[in-house]
Amino acid sequence: MRMKKSHLLAPGPTPVPPEVLAAMGQPILHHRAPEFGAVMEDVRAGLRYLFQTEEEVVTFAASGTGAMEAAVVNVLSPEDKAICIRGGKFGERWQEICEAYGAEVIPIDVEWGSAVNPTLVADTLQAHPEVKALYVPASETSTGVRHDVEALAQIVRPTDAILVVDAVTAIGVFDMPTDAWGLDIVVSGSQKALMLPPGLGFCCVATKKAWKLVEQSTLPSYYFDFKKEYENLRNNLSSYTPAVSLVVGLREVLRLIRAEGLEQVFARHDRLARATRSAMQAIGLELFAKESPSNALTAVKVPEGIDGTAIPKMLREDYGITIAGGQSQFKGKIFRIAHLGYAFDWDIVTAVAATEMVLKRLGYDVELGAGVRAAQHTLLEG
Ligand SMILES: *Cc1c(COP(=O)(O)O)cnc(C)c1O
Repeated sequence: MRMKKSHLLAPGPTPVPPEVLAAMGQPILHHRAPEFGAVMEDVRAGLRYLFQTEEEVVTFAASGTGAMEAAVVNVLSPEDKAICIRGGKFGERWQEICEAYGAEVIPIDVEWGSAVNPTLVADTLQAHPEVKALYVPASETSTGVRHDVEALAQIVRPTDAILVVDAVTAIGVFDMPTDAWGLDIVVSGSQKALMLPPGLGFCCVATKKAWKLVEQSTLPSYYFDFKKEYENLRNNLSSYTPAVSLVVGLREVLRLIRAEGLEQVFARHDRLARATRSAMQAIGLELFAKESPSNALTAVKVPEGIDGTAIPKMLREDYGITIAGGQSQFKGKIFRIAHLGYAFDWDIVTAVAATEMVLKRLGYDVELGAGVRAAQHTLLEG
């Protein structure tokens, strides 16, 4: 066996900084001990900073999908109507969760690779004034598209409905201020921009309108209970045993993010995203996102005549680089390079160089270094 250095450039899980790994390697704290209460106190403040809110953010021991489920079972009641913005795996997931609990979904279909047209959302909401909630992924990780959450928030605000945002590849990637935009509920997860292992789900219930729905909700739930969790959180506790080591790691992550500063974090993601896009275009490839590409990842169309599934496979097996392929009907048709979380300039240069080599080996006519050069120029310009 050849020794290999691995590079994780998938849109989750993402690499974990050494400081955070070290923090998580400390002996386990008891979750009712004062030491852990102090950790929770720091984490609460850090999450408020990260989510840009005065409200609290609750943390569950669950993957991001658990946080999504929490934002359905605590909000809706059986047979309630909800609008789900589709157009990718994660938009579809909102619909699946709502339907699993007997809610009626009015889907808004968006072509994969496109962003939702806010006017269409406004019209749909007007035609269905009984809708309780609108569910949307801020950054649709399966297509690399960013939806205009700010515009959606403006549409939803004057109505009786609330806006629930899946921010798993948005929080810590680009500016999406919860309070300033009036987002009602924001959910996220640990293993993307938050630079942690999988296992934590976050929910921020940020408005009175959202709390009113939570009070009225009659869907069955036990573990995912916003009221109970928020009550405990105010005493630096969680209702059940938290994922202690992950929460200790989270405190470290939040320190790192605060030290860099949110603005710098967003600027870094923007620079890496632009470098990746310019590199792919310089080697003649087309971006999958027709509009508003997300700064979390770059989805790229596989060129005609090339075996698309071979690209991530060769990158992983021959070069130790993990990116992602396409999902569902786009399996083999696109590949996705992530640049979120603990990602820096040389991650991009490495990924681009290896992608050029793989494409060349697969028979695609690429001038080696063309993408790398484009990325370098973008990175130099800042
Ligand atoms: C990763 C991701 C999730 C959560 O997925 P889990 O596997 O449950 O953590 C949800 N939404 C988006 C947009 C994601 O990228």
